[in-house]
Amino acid sequence: MKGFDVVIIGGGLSGSSTALNLSKKGYSVLVIEKEKNQAYKPCAGGMASSMQKFLPLDIKDSIESKIKNVEFRWKASDNVIADLTGESPFWIIKREKLDQLLLDESIRNGVQIISGLLVEKIRKKNDNWEVTCNNKNKYISKFLVIADGSQSKWAGYFNLGPRKPKFANTISLRLKGLGEIPRDAVRFEFGFIKYGFAWAFPLKESLNIGLGTFINNGHLENQAINNQVIRSFGFDDFSYKTINKKLRIWNGMHPINGEKILAVGDAASLCDPFLAEGIRPSLISSFYAAECIDHCLSGRLDDLNLYTKKINNDWGKSMAWGRRIAQVFYRFPRTGYQLGVKRKTAPKRIAQILSGEMSYEDIAKRVIRRLLTNSRI
Ligand SMILES: Cc1cc2nc3c(=O)[nH]c(=O)nc-3n(C[C@H](O)[C@H](O)[C@H](O)COP(=O)(O)OP(=O)(O)OC[C@H]3O[C@@H](n4cnc5c(N)ncnc54)[C@H](O)[C@@H]3O)c2cc1C
Repeated sequence: MKGFDVVIIGGGLSGSSTALNLSKKGYSVLVIEKEKNQAYKPCAGGMASSMQKFLPLDIKDSIESKIKNVEFRWKASDNVIADLTGESPFWIIKREKLDQLLLDESIRNGVQIISGLLVEKIRKKNDNWEVTCNNKNKYISKFLVIADGSQSKWAGYFNLGPRKPKFANTISLRLKGLGEIPRDAVRFEFGFIKYGFAWAFPLKESLNIGLGTFINNGHLENQAINNQVIRSFGFDDFSYKTINKKLRIWNGMHPINGEKILAVGDAASLCDPFLAEGIRPSLISSFYAAECIDHCLSGRLDDLNLYTKKINNDWGKSMAWGRRIAQVFYRFPRTGYQLGVKRKTAPKRIAQILSGEMSYEDIAKRVIRRLLTNSRI
């Protein structure tokens, strides 16, 4: 039975980036991933380039497009275009490539990765973790990281994150060609999808299309509407395979660590409940997970509570506003579109949110300040 400093359950974005960050600090790490290989990941790959700072690796090989414009539409018209040519651009990365880059670099740094194995049992044994897989192999570690994504079995088992997680329903597909979407633009299409929206993010030679509903457990089964959305992106004749995925979204401030255990990324319910942005919180949580485990293993911290505090402070405060905005916007989308997207200053603010320069909290505070100033006049 082999012992490690850290065992990580799940080798997606959060698991692989936590592994890489820990291995760069000199720790022995094992990643257990249930899939043998994943040819297609549903993630559309939109990420703020400023997130590169949370990775100890240049990820330029995974970038497929650099985005200059974001287009918003209401039922295929009423366009608003936000210019994204600011200091911190928005990238479209191919998720399969990014995750592989991170795993390859982790292996070069000594991380052991086991694919095609499911974790069946986890228990504490003499202050260590004992992880048993479905082939009955056992692994021992000092710390445990739960990174098994939106369908996480282990986050709930260890009371990490909300007791009752909330989910967005999504459908994703990838079509050959870019339809009418320019290579350097992304499009958000509102009005067709009840309680949500559709998006089109360009890769080099194909388009990532996604549909999502974010409140009231809205469904996406209406084939005619889905085809209408795909047509609105400029495809006349198409056949496609879709992946349906429930995406665990942020649902309040909760502990995401226990004793010598923590959750990262989707398993920790960190995904943005308004725009489904999950790459950013995955990278932020992986970075601080590795920092806090390092502090504990080197005796500078007694427990991992600082991890929960840091993530709640740096990400949760903004998501609390994101959730409020989602609740109102998706209930009254036409009004939301007119007031939130078509306002004169909206394109700039949207660009700042997507590039990571501003949080929902910053935006909300500005609006409140403006209301208070106006009410005094
Ligand atoms: C349709 C769609 C589009 C999206 N588009 C964007 C976007 O454009 N931008 C953005 O920022 N975010 C986007 N997201 C969100 C983003 O994809 C997720 O937040 C991100 O993938 C989270 O990474 P993760 O590593 O936490 O989870 P995952 O990537 O889901 O990885 C979890 C891993 O754990 C493995 N696993 C699960 N259970 C076990 C187990 N018991 N044992 C071992 N391994 C296990 C899984 O096989 C998987 O590899 C999108 C999501 C969806 C569904």
